[in-house]
Amino acid sequence: MRKVGFIGWRGMVGSVLMTRMYKNNDFESLTPVFFSTSQKGQQVDILGVGASVLKDAYAIDVLMQMEIIVTCQGSDYTADILPKLRNSGWQGYWIDAASHLRMHDDSVIVLDPINGDSIQKALDKGVKNFVGGNCTVSLMMLAIQGLLKEDLINWISVMSYQAVSGAGAKAMIELVNQMSLAGNVDITDSLTLERDIHTKVSSSDFPCTEFLTPMAYNILPFIDAPLANGQSKEEWKAQAEMNKILQKTPALPIDGICVRVPVLRAHSQALTIELKKSIALNDIQQKLEKANEWVRFVDNDPKLTAKHLTPMAVSNTLDIAVGRLKKTNLSDRHIQLFTVGDQLLWGAAEPLRRMLNICLARV
Ligand code: NAP
Repeated sequence: MRKVGFIGWRGMVGSVLMTRMYKNNDFESLTPVFFSTSQKGQQVDILGVGASVLKDAYAIDVLMQMEIIVTCQGSDYTADILPKLRNSGWQGYWIDAASHLRMHDDSVIVLDPINGDSIQKALDKGVKNFVGGNCTVSLMMLAIQGLLKEDLINWISVMSYQAVSGAGAKAMIELVNQMSLAGNVDITDSLTLERDIHTKVSSSDFPCTEFLTPMAYNILPFIDAPLANGQSKEEWKAQAEMNKILQKTPALPIDGICVRVPVLRAHSQALTIELKKSIALNDIQQKLEKANEWVRFVDNDPKLTAKHLTPMAVSNTLDIAVGRLKKTNLSDRHIQLFTVGDQLLWGAAEPLRRMLNICLARV
């Protein structure tokens, strides 16, 4: 059986990937080899696989023996290791969750329900590097696949509300820790409640290393590095990656503001879309629902929204909830909708898992 190396399997994306693979019996069709950047030599018991001694994720000679490498470790690791492997003549498939390779000419951003044909063509041409897209981009594209497919959109303005687990396991642990520290106040005195929490969270010794400000009882409207044009890098990815996936020129304009919110898991996005022509809301709903099997349309109703269109409603599922669909005051061609999906599943692990299976069918 094919040897597949896994790096980053214990992080947020990696552990969700392991669970999905276990549930789908994916380990039965490959020989997994587990690596670590920090725990080489340790014996671990990995879901669905059993005991395994961790290999050194920097050992090029061992990595060279893999036919496929799946990494959920991060961009620094990719930038360091992949050139060394390729320069040593490694011909295997590299499947990656990190952003580093996404815009490289010799790599394909994978979201096979949307660009499955492009993936197959790239494999035919000998492309070996396949990268999962940015989480909000993949979730947004699945949500509006019905409109993208028929080329009905002029532009998109998108505001995201992104969970802390989008920044990794440590960020999620820090938020839970902060909430418990901040919330440990006298809640019977509503007059001092907010002031006591505010004093704690804004004190200079409040634990905060993962973000520029504590996320407990807070939001942060800046994700990733600043760019010269005023965007954050996370905001830049929306247009760049979506158009690469769609292979669209001229590019479909997309912009917005990405906001980190104190949610543990699942990213939400509010979209304003200019359509190329006026389309009845019922027809839009049908197009969205028919485009793929994961869209769950939620009627524009407060109770149904509260039940089905929240991070809590979709976490740990492959559902792409889409709701709040309405026309706007701007014009009949300007619509708004809200979408939420699990950024660790369709936003990260699931496109990689599916790409691994596509590669396994080839090697
Ligand atoms: P992560 O949770 O920070 O895990 C990355 C690595 O950190 C792990 O593989 C592990 O490596 C190490 N680590 C250190 N302390 C850990 C701890 N307490 N628990 C678990 N792992 C720990 O990162 P991630 O969120 O999975 O992201 C991996 C890559 O995917 C990044 O490039 C990210 O940008 C991308 N991505 C993430 C998301 C998301 O929603 N999180 C979505 C799409 C793409 P060792 O075992 O080698 O020490």
